[in-house]
Amino acid sequence: MKLISAIVPCYNEEENVSYFYDEFIKNKSFFDANDLAYELIYVDDGSSDATASEVKKVIGKDSNVHLISLSRNFGKESSMYAGMQMAKGDYVVIMDSDLQDPPSLLPELYGYLQEGYDVAATRRTTRNGEPPVRSFFARAFYHIINKWSQTEIVDGARDYRLMTRQVVDAVLSMSEYCRFSKGIFSWVGFRTKWVEYENIERVKGTTKWNFWSLFTYAMDGIVGFSTAPLKIASITGSVFCLISVIMIIFTIVRKLAFGDPTSGWPSLVCIIFLVSGVQMLCLGAVGQYLEKTYLEVKHRPIYIIKEKM
Ligand code: UDP
Ligand code: MG
Repeated sequence: MKLISAIVPCYNEEENVSYFYDEFIKNKSFFDANDLAYELIYVDDGSSDATASEVKKVIGKDSNVHLISLSRNFGKESSMYAGMQMAKGDYVVIMDSDLQDPPSLLPELYGYLQEGYDVAATRRTTRNGEPPVRSFFARAFYHIINKWSQTEIVDGARDYRLMTRQVVDAVLSMSEYCRFSKGIFSWVGFRTKWVEYENIERVKGTTKWNFWSLFTYAMDGIVGFSTAPLKIASITGSVFCLISVIMIIFTIVRKLAFGDPTSGWPSLVCIIFLVSGVQMLCLGAVGQYLEKTYLEVKHRPIYIIKEKM
């Protein structure tokens, strides 16, 4: 008998916990028919509401359900890592608690693994129900990161994916502190089947993302999986040096030909502003990498467990 582990990161999802269980358990007959045992691991990511006690109620009904409570909110990336470390399954699937990742898709995903794929991953084809500004920036982000990074980051890829044990172990071996799962999943490779579906809006509660958190997430992705900004900084520096040499020659020639080296004060101010702006920008790019390096070298744990059942 093979074991399938489902990991469900939850942050303030009290309304969705039991609702998710009801949907998930509809796969029971599928599990039985395929000789699969299951474990359902809710990761409570430092929720301030009744998420943990809701999970305990579900555990009371079904002993295949487990809970990991983290000591504070560490973010979804860390919750997923915690869940994967606890999962014992031959197959592991990650799902959102808000039912945006429909559990009814699980049999189909499992089918692809039986066909020989190592991963069955999902991506949404539409961005229905999302503010247009957010969609615009999301598209721009995917465009930039795929130009700059060797690792392919698939637009619309969700974290909802069923993986074999081998893939999970590969993901777990990437124990970096600054985690960007979309990149990590792609980086480890393996044969992946993409399953597409239309975006589904969350059933209850509200999304934990706001514009700023998405922006920093995008930055983490770029810094984590590309060093292009550093190269761009060096190239910009070289271009500016070249321009300044041309300007020096121009000024000397003008002085010798017309004897007027002092006019052009406004243009000088503009140039100083431009150059110092570019310098700060480049310094900022270097700073981003320094920040990530600093966080990595401290070797802090990715998450801390408060309670496990
Ligand atoms: N989540 C989490 N920790 C966080 C933020 C979110 O574990 O700090 C969980 C959340 O409970 C949900 C999933 O990650 O199950 C996706 O979050 P959300 O629905 O807010 O994101 P969206 O679907 O809008 O991308
Ligand atoms: Mg959601």
